[in-house]
Amino acid sequence: MPADILPIAFSLTGPIPAAFLGTLSAGDLPVSLAASTQSGPGLGTYLLLVIAPMLLGLWAQFRVKSAFGRYSQVPVDSGRTGAETAQDILDAAGIRDVSVVEINGMLGDHYDPGAKRLCLSSEVYRTPSVAAVGIAAHEAGHAIQHARAYAPLGARMALVPVTMFASQMLPFVVMGGFFFQITGLIKLGVMCYGILAVFQLITLPVEFDASRRAKVILGEMGIVNAGPEAVGVNRVLDAAALTYVAAFVAALGNLLHLLLALRGRDSEE
Ligand SMILES: [Zn+2]
Repeated sequence: MPADILPIAFSLTGPIPAAFLGTLSAGDLPVSLAASTQSGPGLGTYLLLVIAPMLLGLWAQFRVKSAFGRYSQVPVDSGRTGAETAQDILDAAGIRDVSVVEINGMLGDHYDPGAKRLCLSSEVYRTPSVAAVGIAAHEAGHAIQHARAYAPLGARMALVPVTMFASQMLPFVVMGGFFFQITGLIKLGVMCYGILAVFQLITLPVEFDASRRAKVILGEMGIVNAGPEAVGVNRVLDAAALTYVAAFVAALGNLLHLLLALRGRDSEE
């Protein structure tokens, strides 16, 4: 799973570890509730900062899955599959050192900047659908970012090691903080969520820019017609964008909640 953090995954694939989303880890609930019993944040704050972002994330995931389900059934007139779309875009951009490969599994589309591989799930790779060309073009957008040294992508890649470490630490920090009520561990949790929040924040321009490029290129290259096809691509990519916003909001909410818990604790001592 940690290897999945490195590539820039399309969000509907969900390869972002649960801890990454900040709110979806099972170990998260106890410390938050434990913190609520202190003089720190109350239940209302907990619902607002932790539960609401989690629900937003689940709703976003649902929307992206339903948009994909719908538009993977709608063929494009150009007849280009995801694989052909990705290759066309790479060729047009003059990128020759990135390979387009098919990967197993339902979803899991991503661009791996380390290996310079554009990995597409079978359904995207083989199907000439609105959803498939949209996702393929989005991943090609990341390859273009990489080739053009797009600064936010560089920043995101630089943050990957520390972010992986923080996301792996989080379950232990949260569990330890709950069972032993150790203030130091909560501080460590604040640090972890701080790193995750920064990472999710820098991910936003990277993802928005990849989708923006995809929409423009698909129209320019005639892979997608203006009208219903373009609208479908927009729906799929915009739904995916919302999941990244939700992931950032979740990390930020958890960070604020832990900070409030810490403040309550400090004022007790
Ligand atoms: Zn992406």
